[in-house]
Amino acid sequence: MDLKMMIKAHAKELGIDKIGFTTADNFAALKPSLLAQKAAGHTTGFEHQNIDERLYPDKIFDQPQSIIAIALAYPAKIHERPPRTGPKRGRFARASWGIDYHTVLDRKMASLIKFIKRTAENDPNLRFKPMVDTGELIDVVVAQRAGLGFIGKNGLLITPEFGSYVYLGEIITNIKFAPDEPMTSQCGDCTRCIDFCPPKALLGDGRMNGQRCLSYQTQTKGYMDPEFRPMIRNVLYGCDICQQVCPFNKGKDFHIHPEMEPDPETVLPELIPMLTLTNKDFKTRFGKLAGAWRGKKPLQRNAIIALVNLHDRSAIPHLLEVIEHDPRPMIRATAAWAVGELQPSSNPEIETFLKTALAKETTPEAQVAFQDALDHLTQH
Ligand code: SF4
Repeated sequence: MDLKMMIKAHAKELGIDKIGFTTADNFAALKPSLLAQKAAGHTTGFEHQNIDERLYPDKIFDQPQSIIAIALAYPAKIHERPPRTGPKRGRFARASWGIDYHTVLDRKMASLIKFIKRTAENDPNLRFKPMVDTGELIDVVVAQRAGLGFIGKNGLLITPEFGSYVYLGEIITNIKFAPDEPMTSQCGDCTRCIDFCPPKALLGDGRMNGQRCLSYQTQTKGYMDPEFRPMIRNVLYGCDICQQVCPFNKGKDFHIHPEMEPDPETVLPELIPMLTLTNKDFKTRFGKLAGAWRGKKPLQRNAIIALVNLHDRSAIPHLLEVIEHDPRPMIRATAAWAVGELQPSSNPEIETFLKTALAKETTPEAQVAFQDALDHLTQH
């Protein structure tokens, strides 16, 4: 068996669901598209900023020969959900269920590299550079060229076996492997992801306006534009709509990796307790999730918005507490907006409360939100 076959066989034993190989040739054909996306303001700032390093493996690795791409399937359904009748809950998108996938994939790739080194009798000349998501290369593009799947109109890698519910990682190496056959698009005439995306973020050719993507919107740290607030529904992190509507994901729900199993109380948390989450609670309860990477503030802002979207009026006293005590202007401002949205009729007590809070408020951002909330209430 040659080395490639041995790696493929061992990858299965390591719990790697798909593996493919491609050359270390550059991806320069994408450069005009990446530049156009940047010029159009469609990027989010979460991308690696050096475009050439994203496209030329030899800019980040000395004399690369191949790239090994891997995919791990993640679950799409929570089998034991909390009762729907209890307190209102938020939701983390699927890619934030279980332990942070960066950790899971890093471990798998480290084991794979160890195996390759051992098999090659620890040849000191062999070199590897693994990366997941935050690395320089564009994961979906590498995975497509390595034959793991095709890139859908939603910009995600779609595998025939697991749909798009896969995490991707890749390893650049100076070992030469025969490349696998890339897959071409199988979307055909389907436009479901484009049609169902609430903010119309998808451009139709696999690219998106990242600034309009709801997943991005849930990860920003500032005041969320009112346009997007109803669209996030009760999602605290991520989105998933363009995955849920994709026919290639129909019936796909793989529970292969125990570390990816969602804990319902963590990924479907009650919303009201989120408002007063301490740093310690946040770390203990959510610290291991991929969705924790931006800290607790965006999640708390999204929890406030979710309470409005779920029309939970029982949240009003808790929101007033937030307005009075939370040290962060953006959170106070979002809470004031929420009170204005949730309070069904004019209420002198709440109006007096907001007027007092406005008189004490020192940040223009929160002052505007408090005044808007007051105007909203007095219009009832
Ligand atoms: Fe392609 Fe349709 Fe899936 Fe979008 S929803 S990625 S168009 S198959």
